[in-house]
Amino acid sequence: MNETQISMEELTQILEREKTEYDIARIVNPYACSTMRFKDGTMTAEGTCHHIWKHDHRCSNCFSRRACIQHKVLYKTEVMEGKSYRIKSTPYRVKTETGEVRNYVIESVRICELSRETVNSNIRTDLKHEATDYVFNEAMTGVIRMDADHNVVFANRQAKKMILRGGEQESFLLRTIVTNWLEGRQDRNAESLLFTQRYEYDHKDYFFDIQLIPFENTNGMELLIILHEHTDEEADRIANARDKDPLTGLYNGTGFYVAMERILRDNPDKQYIHLRLNVRNFTVINSVFGTRTGDALLMRLGELLGRMTEETGCACHFHSDQFGLLMENDYFDSSKLELDLGQIKSDTDSENFGLLFQVGIYRIEDHSMEPEVICDRASMALRHTKASGEVISTAVYHDDMTVQALTDNQLVSRFERAIARDEFHMFLQPQTDVEGNVKSAEALARWIRSDEGVIAPVLFIPGLEKNGMIYRMDRVIWEKAARQLKAWKGTEFQDISISVNISPIDITLIDIVDCFEKLTGKYEIDPGMLNIEITETAMVNNPDRLLHIVDQLHRRGFHVEIDDFGSGYSSLKMLKDLNADVLKIDRGFLQHTVHERKMKTILSSIIQMAHALGMHVITEGVETQEMVDMIYQMGCHTFQGFFFSRPLPVDEFEEKYAEQLSGRFPHNGR
Ligand code: C2E
Ligand code: CA
Ligand code: CA
Repeated sequence: MNETQISMEELTQILEREKTEYDIARIVNPYACSTMRFKDGTMTAEGTCHHIWKHDHRCSNCFSRRACIQHKVLYKTEVMEGKSYRIKSTPYRVKTETGEVRNYVIESVRICELSRETVNSNIRTDLKHEATDYVFNEAMTGVIRMDADHNVVFANRQAKKMILRGGEQESFLLRTIVTNWLEGRQDRNAESLLFTQRYEYDHKDYFFDIQLIPFENTNGMELLIILHEHTDEEADRIANARDKDPLTGLYNGTGFYVAMERILRDNPDKQYIHLRLNVRNFTVINSVFGTRTGDALLMRLGELLGRMTEETGCACHFHSDQFGLLMENDYFDSSKLELDLGQIKSDTDSENFGLLFQVGIYRIEDHSMEPEVICDRASMALRHTKASGEVISTAVYHDDMTVQALTDNQLVSRFERAIARDEFHMFLQPQTDVEGNVKSAEALARWIRSDEGVIAPVLFIPGLEKNGMIYRMDRVIWEKAARQLKAWKGTEFQDISISVNISPIDITLIDIVDCFEKLTGKYEIDPGMLNIEITETAMVNNPDRLLHIVDQLHRRGFHVEIDDFGSGYSSLKMLKDLNADVLKIDRGFLQHTVHERKMKTILSSIIQMAHALGMHVITEGVETQEMVDMIYQMGCHTFQGFFFSRPLPVDEFEEKYAEQLSGRFPHNGR
């Protein structure tokens, strides 16, 4: 229910209606534990929701959050200071003014005076002497009689046993619990006099079939409630149907969240990871080999994940090719997983349709974190996996990825604001000689938001490329680079050129040559100082157009650099055809090279060949002295990497290199 989105105005209208029917009605954001107020077109947090329950920490058993997870109305009763508070939590998906969709809950509370004496005395002992009550008391089913005001007039031994489970002496709980069930049923289907009720007591689930028999008596409409408890096996079966996925026998999403929460709560001292697994090209397998093969593959995966979590965790088949598991960190063996998945691949994908597994990992630091946040983080990591050619590609979550949660919609609206507020900044990473003397710099974009801090480009550039807005951000960075070059004129930085990045998408959307020509004109800078980095991917996609552009740029005095060489489809022919000025060797290439002798030979030949073609070579991603030495010996003498410096904000860049450069430019002290 409530899957449809409503506007904030609609939510407020519902709230007003609830206020007339209940003692308290309020909007909460259960993930942030805050009460919300809608004012002047925006929703703002105004307080902490659990304070109303006199809790100074979040409620361990927050039904509003569960209501969001389960997408349904949930009921709960809090008993406090002689009153019972029946809370109805109704989840809504609400579209905010920025177009984002948020989960909010309306909590509607009914307050009842609850005097223990009256309730207890209402379980009239004198009735025990009546023959029918005597019989009821001995019966194996639970029997509860309620008067018109929902007071418990009678409860037989079995009913008390079923509800209080021998642990709770306070009979008045009977009333609150049973009323709770009745309310829950009323909202679902007021007519039904027979329903199945799940009851959680001390972390264990029980299931009752409940029959309601209303009968008229002089005091009004009373109610006889007959409870039949399911055996453990029946309860398991019901729980399974609700929480398990029939194909694999693993939990479904709902069951997984609940199980995950329980395991984390019960084992505060253990370290867990959550792993999300996705089958790449599953649809190909399904359509080429048929759904039977597809299902068999899912079952194999289910079996594997089930086995992995048998001892210490739980596993889940969310839907289609999406799996998840929770397990103790110490039990997780990634190479074993790789072997097992490799086996499954070779059994299934005999014709090599590129079946691959992507794995996102989140190491759980805080056991009280919501299961869905945990799952989101592993999914985010999963989206950051890169095809590596191996059977599995893995990525581990880190905080930067959070921004990735931006949906395309959110990105569009945030992007407009970011441009308007000038949130895209240019960082500079130096390109140095072997001694660390800066020669030039690469301009790298950073999105800096006041609330989220610095956002790295991998988090937003793919989205901007997808929706075609990348050229607008790129133009901002290009302009900043041009302006910087102008500002450096006449200073010790005047010989430092800046390279800017061009997305392959830019080439298809705007007239690059015209754009750069205008920039250098506007800022009166030498085109030879504003270098243009083009990735080899652009070359693969549209070689003729690219060749033409490079030629035009050359004619106007710009230098063109081939970026990320060795990361993808590098071809030596391309090197020759493209006629670029600089070859930038990709970081990934370098990483392989350190370990593999053959790669070293290849790298060193590429460097020689680039030189033979008259190109300058820059190696990216140098992180250690060992790498610097190796590359230097191969003949590449310009480096860009963390070993020398990370990308820096412009002022830090200037601060770091002013002294070094002032030696070169002695007449301009800073
Ligand atoms: P790129 O063009 O290959 O930029 C180099 C990336 O490598 C930068 O990441 C840089 O911070 C990182 N890097 C440099 N040295 C090291 C090192 O030693 N170790 C490691 N691990 N990393 C190193 P960054 O800034 O996160 O940028 C990532 C990519 O985003 C860039 O890769 C580029 O493709 C894209 N990008 C960045 N700024 C822009 C932009 O203004 N426009 C466009 N279209 N793309 C951009
Ligand atoms: Ca680059
Ligand atoms: Ca690069």
